[in-house]
Amino acid sequence: MNRRRFLVATGAALLPVWTGRARAAEAKTPGQAYFGPERFVEYLAGELPLVFTAPHGGRLRPDAIPDRTSGVTDADANTQELARALHADLLARTGRHAHVVISHLHRRKLDPNRELAEAAQGSALAEQTWHDYHATIAGALAAAAARHGFAFLVDVHGHAHPIPRLELGYALAAAQLNQSDAAFDASELVKLSTLRDLHARTGGSGAALLRGPGSLGDLFAQRGYRAVPSPQEPQPGQNPFFAGGYTVRRHAADPATTKVDGLQIECHRPGVRDTEENRAAFARATGDALLVYLKSRYAYAPAPAATPSPAPAAP
Ligand SMILES: [Zn+2]
Repeated sequence: MNRRRFLVATGAALLPVWTGRARAAEAKTPGQAYFGPERFVEYLAGELPLVFTAPHGGRLRPDAIPDRTSGVTDADANTQELARALHADLLARTGRHAHVVISHLHRRKLDPNRELAEAAQGSALAEQTWHDYHATIAGALAAAAARHGFAFLVDVHGHAHPIPRLELGYALAAAQLNQSDAAFDASELVKLSTLRDLHARTGGSGAALLRGPGSLGDLFAQRGYRAVPSPQEPQPGQNPFFAGGYTVRRHAADPATTKVDGLQIECHRPGVRDTEENRAAFARATGDALLVYLKSRYAYAPAPAATPSPAPAAP
């Protein structure tokens, strides 16, 4: 009996589930599409530390899942396409693939950006899809963090609020962002945000990290896209504002998560996600801004790809 082999086998069997998911995600081929049960969840495997998610851009309305009868059931138009445009821009820029996770179910059937009960409203198939969606995100983030030491989640949405500006959701409500920088920092609100891991690395003013020079809001504004919070528009004021939902709270803001930061980006429609041309232009600005951000905040720059990565398979 080989005692050493026995111990190795036992150790492997005791690995926690998330480790297995991380390894499974790492073993996947960057740029290839993988589908969960019923093809309701699509995962474009990646190699960059960026993970884009699109929970509200699905179109499938299978009869096997009853329509949701409460909560928001309207889709965020063209956000699935916007997530793919972001992936395409970064591939063109770096020769490398970002991770992308897409829910193909229409929001009338499943809202993966909600707690399970409101998301699936009792449908076992919708619940299974919800679990698959979030396990896929967790796997992508764990793979990225294992490879790079950090992962950055961008949850892509669309809003129809009156002011045509990006709403950056760091899991902080308007009332919290409406505080002065001094009050914001005194109450250490950044530790409740989706940048809590980044702040633990960099220290300093949380308000400056979230909305000062070099913040994502600033980088968007510099490229012609109004954004709140940013140095130009630091506070939502009394205007409607999306603070960031279940996905970024679970995967980035929760103290149980480590090495993961991110945000929810709520995009207005005109000039950003209404046409293919505008989506491509917004993706160019965002891809550039994200790479500047990762370099300045994480000292990360993508290594040149040795060989061109294959184009992603068509959905
Ligand atoms: Zn949405």
